Amino acid sequence: MTTTPYLDARIPGRRLLQSPGPTPIPEAVMQALTSPCMDMGDPRVDETIAACETGLKPVLGTRDGDVFFFISNGHGAWEAAIENLVPPGGAVLVPGTGHFSEGWAVQAEALGRRVVRTPWVEGLPIDAAAITQALRDDPRHEIAAVFVVHTDTSSGITSDLAALRAALTASGHPALFVVDVVASLGVEPFDFDALGVDMAVGASQKGLMCPPGVGFVATSARAFAAAQRNPAPRFYWDIVARKSPLSYRKFCGTPPQNLLAALRVALGLLQQEGLPQVLARHRRLAGLTHAAVEGWAEAGALGFFARDAACRSNAVTTITVPPGTDVDALRALAREDYQVAFAGALGPLHGRGFRIGHLGDQNPANLLGAIAAIEAALRAQGVPVGDGIGRAVRRLAAEER
Ligand SMILES: *Cc1c(COP(=O)(O)O)cnc(C)c1O
Repeated sequence: MTTTPYLDARIPGRRLLQSPGPTPIPEAVMQALTSPCMDMGDPRVDETIAACETGLKPVLGTRDGDVFFFISNGHGAWEAAIENLVPPGGAVLVPGTGHFSEGWAVQAEALGRRVVRTPWVEGLPIDAAAITQALRDDPRHEIAAVFVVHTDTSSGITSDLAALRAALTASGHPALFVVDVVASLGVEPFDFDALGVDMAVGASQKGLMCPPGVGFVATSARAFAAAQRNPAPRFYWDIVARKSPLSYRKFCGTPPQNLLAALRVALGLLQQEGLPQVLARHRRLAGLTHAAVEGWAEAGALGFFARDAACRSNAVTTITVPPGTDVDALRALAREDYQVAFAGALGPLHGRGFRIGHLGDQNPANLLGAIAAIEAALRAQGVPVGDGIGRAVRRLAAEER
């Protein structure tokens, strides 16, 4: 097994990227990245930004929400949520759902906020009743916001946002409802307005099929007003300063023109396919992956991390492996010899599983190819597996009957 140099060696065919982010980038989006830079007075700059704002709103399901972009990854957008919505020394409720909820909580603590956590139970989605309880236990309303991770990309679990919103409402607590949609936007149904979301937090490199580099938040009027009242010192992340018709203000400096050109094209692709069709395609691809895992699991070694089938994400599937399995060697074999890249498990799950991303620019053919190669890698490593690829193929064929 040899490592192919990243840039200067041609890989015959394509390397399949089954990571839950970054995800494969469509050809048209790649081409948009090569567009020349413009002077800041060129009206095309503003036009590109406006197209990204208006293109993102239907994907988020908001009519009147404001969108603010940052040159950042998802962690930057997390920071924007913390610094804009939570006063210095204030508190935030972070319901446990895995590695990503914990990461956001740790970041809030690093920025001087107090974090109230609800317990994370491995394999289960967010516990809605625990949210109501935690908020009732805060009679002085010190908790400024509830930070919910819609799809925890580490556990492969998607929580029921309507139930979580209802839990917040039932508590009678005025906390803002803030949702991380980094891994779920363009993958799972999400309706900012209908859910009464106050802030959604996203990034470009997952369901939106772009390179990493653009983070964003969408805000309700209530969240924006909270940001206006919030005395927390901030500059780059300040959405109040960014609310302006001037692109230089909107981006706190030079906009990332090429990334925005790419995002505009990617949003156009989603619109062209139709959002309901995009979501249905992701459900279908997740179904093929689940069929493969069911087949593999028949040999008794592998299994789903998500205990309840209803909470398995349409973006990524987390698969558990027996103790002693060398996941890193498995990934290296699949990536370097078979040209399929997939992800390991994160944080407390490291070494206990692997993850297959099936989001973004994907179709049944590339996914079945990836599943077949992953099965080959598992067999080559001596991991006992049943007929996963056969089961996925039969599931696809059965859809057509
Ligand atoms: C990927 C991801 C993040 C972090 O995004 P980065 O771009 O890696 O900073 C946050 N939340 C979720 C749910 C994610 O999947």
